[in-house]
Amino acid sequence: MSNERRTPINLVVLGAPGAGKGTQAVDFARRHRIPKISTGDILRDAVQRRSELGQRTKEVMDTGGLVADELMVAIVRERLTRQDSADGWVLDGFPRTVAQATALDEITVGQGVLIVVDISVPDDALITRLARRRVCGQCGDATSVAAGEAVTRCARCGGELVLRSDDTAAVVRERLRVYAEATKPLIYYYASRLTFRAIDGQQSQPAVAAALTAAVDDVLAAVSVRISVSEGAAG
Ligand code: AMP
Repeated sequence: MSNERRTPINLVVLGAPGAGKGTQAVDFARRHRIPKISTGDILRDAVQRRSELGQRTKEVMDTGGLVADELMVAIVRERLTRQDSADGWVLDGFPRTVAQATALDEITVGQGVLIVVDISVPDDALITRLARRRVCGQCGDATSVAAGEAVTRCARCGGELVLRSDDTAAVVRERLRVYAEATKPLIYYYASRLTFRAIDGQQSQPAVAAALTAAVDDVLAAVSVRISVSEGAAG
């Protein structure tokens, strides 16, 4: 893809914990050769390195809460100015509050269309998925392990698969509560935009990937029609 692309793809993938947004964001970003920027990955990396950021955020992450908006906005603001973000990016895990969404609108002014896709999955399915989720300690890819299945190595790189420390039952409950309270309102924040789409996250992974690509293409087509109509009106 992409040699013919003129518009950068600036994509926000929304969804509850366990909706599959990380997996889909990785896949989409690889296919389009743009960076996937996951604020959760940035924070986990900081915790692992025991950097100042990691020390400040570890406790909030371990208990399923949200790190302060100002800190998250500063991280994303800096990340989006890097050279590799020039052709677009996929944001996974940000924004998570209306304040972060407002800041993202301000950060991206003049940088092309902000496409927002919500991957929607009902709560009971999320709880089952999170209990089965394992992540690779090496490459970060997520895998679903069936009950009783003894998969210990990542299919992609052979790294060790581990349960994320915040995927335990008590923390999952808190993360879903925080999602409903702080993040779900984002759907209403974005819903009236021409650049927002919702897709069904209960399909197979390839079907969700296809729906995500179709949603992005649909937004880009809608926006380019809008631009040519207004250019016609101006001429
Ligand atoms: P995630 O991998 O996206 O599920 O993020 C893991 C944890 O990192 C979350 O439960 C939060 O504690 C923290 N986190 C990640 N992104 C954000 C954000 N945009 N705002 C606040 N906290 C965040």
